Amino acid sequence: MKTLRTLIAASACVAALLLFTGHAFALANIRMGSIGGVQWVDCGAPSKDPSDGCPIGIGPVANDGVMINLTGAFDVDGSAWVFIAAHAPAIDPNVTFLWTKDGWRNLADVDTFSDRSHWDANSPTFRQAFVSIGKAELPEGEYTVYVAVSAPGDTSRMHVFLAKWVNSGNAALRSEALQVLRDFNAYSAAPSGPFIARRWKDAPVVVAIDPAIVNDPRTGIGQVENGVRYWTNETGVSFIVRPATSDELANIGSGGIDGIVYVAYGTPSSGDASEISLTTELTGRYLSARMLIDPAYASGDSGRRLIAHEFGHALGFWGHTSDGTITDHVVASWGLDSRIAQAIWMLYNQLAPGDPVPSQ
Ligand SMILES: [Zn+2]
Repeated sequence: MKTLRTLIAASACVAALLLFTGHAFALANIRMGSIGGVQWVDCGAPSKDPSDGCPIGIGPVANDGVMINLTGAFDVDGSAWVFIAAHAPAIDPNVTFLWTKDGWRNLADVDTFSDRSHWDANSPTFRQAFVSIGKAELPEGEYTVYVAVSAPGDTSRMHVFLAKWVNSGNAALRSEALQVLRDFNAYSAAPSGPFIARRWKDAPVVVAIDPAIVNDPRTGIGQVENGVRYWTNETGVSFIVRPATSDELANIGSGGIDGIVYVAYGTPSSGDASEISLTTELTGRYLSARMLIDPAYASGDSGRRLIAHEFGHALGFWGHTSDGTITDHVVASWGLDSRIAQAIWMLYNQLAPGDPVPSQ
């Protein structure tokens, strides 16, 4: 009863907040007619997602995660050009880099009037994901990210939003992530032998859903896609989600299929709401996984958390935490230990199946 009362109160607060801010989307609102000259807006520390005050989001790394997922998003009342730029003294103190349709370029070398150099924004909302990269891939130091919104064809009239972020702590994180792999992923074939990494051979990881539940509103393709998107966002590992083929259905469990995670409804033997079993080679390569979701627990946000939890195992974290995050045995909320995120990132970016896992 107490819980119910708390929930009702919280919902009322959200409704009130929306009422007083006056717009449904919590995004910066840019009115093109009001832009005169070049106006700089310092966003301070950037957030995970674009917000009301700043159209720059930098992804999980803003909350101690390991992925930089650079996003620009804002409401706009007309047409605009959008430029994305970055400055990092650790990479080159003398260069501002522009994110073009051909990748990063030296701003000084780019024709800003070319269609390749900017994105087009149109009323009512602009949203674009630009860059996704693990923070460990970038040198440590301060990074400044810019989102510039100009009048089309007139870069003398623009808003330039900037946000600063410091990349640090990568050596300690790498060491802790390797320990996570040794404790919860790798194994040694002989007591004195090297620990080796266990993972899928290829990414994107292929997820094959029982055709009987593809269109089910509880655990249809959309629900599974939401669950795996969490890991793509937090670790950069991508997935292909599709119905299982008849050949796969005939061979699931027989060892005759290679390289898929099969998802179906079922009653887990453990009595849990969901479970996963895995077939792996001694050489460290995963062959197939079978995920069972109890349909009674498959719907809504809690169902997505269950699915996300099992995909943490499917990617290679074979343990449980007890810190209120997605890898807990009893999954009460979203959230991910950065050491586990880094371990999965390293598994799919720096290690192949069977590679030795160094101790530091
Ligand atoms: Zn589990």
